[in-house]
Amino acid sequence: MRYSALRILKEGLTGNRGWQPVWREPEPRPEYDIVIIGGGGHGLSTAYYLAKEFGERNVAVLERGWLGSGNIGRNTTIIRSNYLLEGNQPFYELSLRLWEGLEQDFNYNAMVSQRGILNLCHSDSQRDAFVRRGNAMRLSGADSVILGPDEIRRMCPYLDHESARFPITGALWQPRGGTVRHDAVAWGYARGADQRGVDIIQNCAVTGFDIRDGRCLGVETVKGPIKARKVAMCVAGSSSRVATLAGMRLPIESHVLQAFVSEGLKPVLPGVITFGAGHFYVSQSDKGGLVFGGDIDGYNTYAQRGNLPVVEDVCEGGMAIMPMIGRARLLRMWGGVMDMSMDGSPFIDRTHVDGLYLNAGWCYGGFKATPASGYCYAHLLATGQPHETARHFRLDRFRQGAMIDEKGVGAQPNLH
Ligand SMILES: Cc1cc2nc3c(=O)[nH]c(=O)nc-3n(C[C@H](O)[C@H](O)[C@H](O)COP(=O)(O)OP(=O)(O)OC[C@H]3O[C@@H](n4cnc5c(N)ncnc54)[C@H](O)[C@@H]3O)c2cc1C
Repeated sequence: MRYSALRILKEGLTGNRGWQPVWREPEPRPEYDIVIIGGGGHGLSTAYYLAKEFGERNVAVLERGWLGSGNIGRNTTIIRSNYLLEGNQPFYELSLRLWEGLEQDFNYNAMVSQRGILNLCHSDSQRDAFVRRGNAMRLSGADSVILGPDEIRRMCPYLDHESARFPITGALWQPRGGTVRHDAVAWGYARGADQRGVDIIQNCAVTGFDIRDGRCLGVETVKGPIKARKVAMCVAGSSSRVATLAGMRLPIESHVLQAFVSEGLKPVLPGVITFGAGHFYVSQSDKGGLVFGGDIDGYNTYAQRGNLPVVEDVCEGGMAIMPMIGRARLLRMWGGVMDMSMDGSPFIDRTHVDGLYLNAGWCYGGFKATPASGYCYAHLLATGQPHETARHFRLDRFRQGAMIDEKGVGAQPNLH
């Protein structure tokens, strides 16, 4: 069923009785060509592009809970491609381009809103670093503009521009950055994959792998064993736990990241704003709530809730750059489990087990990567070759000394 203005009019006049469920609820079949573990954004986009771009339709997505129960429904919805390193920048620019055509592509309203992202800087050296990053972005075809203090003051008069401690000296502005409604992304990809024959099976946790003679032949699930030619892990915050079932130890730690939403306010923010002297970022939802967040909690956990010290830290960051936020009441907060890799960059690669693939290590930046991650993972699964823009996301890069350490901070997840 395609959505259109005419269809809405017709359904409105006939009691909304013609709408179909957005995807089927099939029982798992005994065997598939490709089984994807994890029905988050990345698993669903992989299934969608496998079917749409590579003609692989004998595919199942196995999801432990319900679609949208993981980080795809918990993130703060920011998209951007303002990366520095060669291993990252072209990949994230591919993702931003896919976001730009996504709603027409899967015929679903995901509220892609390119209102821009403003990274504030507070010292001359930080400004130099932003100029360098902006130039790197332009080399891969991305848009970037360096703004001076006066332009930022015109754009956001309510920021604390002259704080003696954190004066705003400039900003890196990416006009094509913005936000997207996160759960609609899961629903849109699920619908598109389902329409092309992919079985999306909810409440179907994978509990083990059938590995014989170094080859993966399928998975064990709570609904019984399922055979597959290829098995694709795509479980974000649960990556280490699921990989352990296949005897693998990943260079990944799981940490909780919290998000916060204030009461609804009149439109006040032009787009996304990030504070450069601490870890704080904020945007405004279409309902008016300020959506903001900061650092991970900093201890290993699989709990989807955080603790008060980080709440305090995030609110301090907000007050330092935008004192008016102290007048807004907090409406809700929650946490999600992040798969923090040791250099802050992801993996899209095969594993040492034949037929078993890995997509993981997205840290707090995996939402913006959803389209490109799915596209590149589907490319790897279907062709056996890494996609050009994802070729650096190798699992053996620590052994090879080819880390993609975007921030240059080493193996410290709290600093990536
Ligand atoms: C608070 C917060 C804010 C964030 N903000 C941003 C942001 O602004 N921009 C950005 O780019 N990124 C952001 N992120 C990061 C982003 O959300 C994640 O990197 C990304 O969503 C991870 O990929 P996913 O959507 O596939 O994960 P998920 O939605 O978590 O999908 C993984 C799925 O695997 C399932 N699963 C786990 N184990 C099993 C099993 N054994 N069997 C079957 N299924 C299993 C889980 O139930 C889950 O549904 C944020 C994350 C959080 C928590």
